[in-house]
Amino acid sequence: MAARLTLGIDLGGTTTLLAVVDAHNAIVWDRRLPTLPEAGFADVGRRIEEAAAEGRARHPYEAVGVAVAAHVDARTGVLVSSPNLAFREVELRPYFERAWELPLAVENDVNAAAYGEYVVASAPREPLLAVYVGTGVGGGLIVDGHVFRGADGFAAEIGHVPVVPEGGEPCGCGRRGCLEAYAGGAAIVRRAAARLGPKGPSLASVDDVARAAAAGEAACRVVLEEAAAALGLGLAAAVNLYNPGTLVLGGGVARGWPDLVPRALERMRAAALPAALHELVTAPAQLGPHAGAVGAAALARELLAAPRLS
Ligand SMILES: [Zn+2]
Repeated sequence: MAARLTLGIDLGGTTTLLAVVDAHNAIVWDRRLPTLPEAGFADVGRRIEEAAAEGRARHPYEAVGVAVAAHVDARTGVLVSSPNLAFREVELRPYFERAWELPLAVENDVNAAAYGEYVVASAPREPLLAVYVGTGVGGGLIVDGHVFRGADGFAAEIGHVPVVPEGGEPCGCGRRGCLEAYAGGAAIVRRAAARLGPKGPSLASVDDVARAAAAGEAACRVVLEEAAAALGLGLAAAVNLYNPGTLVLGGGVARGWPDLVPRALERMRAAALPAALHELVTAPAQLGPHAGAVGAAALARELLAAPRLS
């Protein structure tokens, strides 16, 4: 069979990445666009269509996967809601199917990224759990070669696992005490700035917090240690619930503070069921910012492999 090309689109809050991927998950063409969601979905969709047409002219792909930073119904291809994009009830699959007349998969971006890490890993032990610590904290779970979504698409939402029993920091989801409210990059910066007060050094990123901690700011050190401890507890809960064979860790916060992952894994190992840890393989994410697009393209390839129903 000829190598079949598929297009993956990662539709994020600020940037949209398109990548045409070959059957070995290698990127043969890519394009980056500002998403500009405030212009509305019709405008975003039109610009994606234009870029995708350019890719198709050079590398004719046969199916498309769309990964989106949103709660999606993967069965119907409907974007249900998205705090990042401020879109609600967008019929993504019908819209893009009309535009391209190609098989089309729609998936949550973190689930797609986890699937991307799964397809590029060499013989990963399953289940594979991928956890990304960026501005927020997200997770995706692959079971028996498929994205495990749960009943409504919220499986592996590790960012909203409670890590304190009562009260705790407010979270973007409306609850308190979630992992993301301690270990997400936005939370780390906000908490460190609040502890330092107006006289402290200005903090714009986790890198700044890590630098201040290294320079002796004890308050920043405490916030970072609490982030690692919270992540470790969340990972321990995930290990006990899912018993993953492979745990992939990625996201920008680990680059800003390189001690995050080792400290969190240490905490996880102290808290999870010892027997669930014996065979657990931990690995850094391989695909970086391309994970969502590569995963979406790989999900699109599955549509080509599936038997046709009609
Ligand atoms: Zn939450």
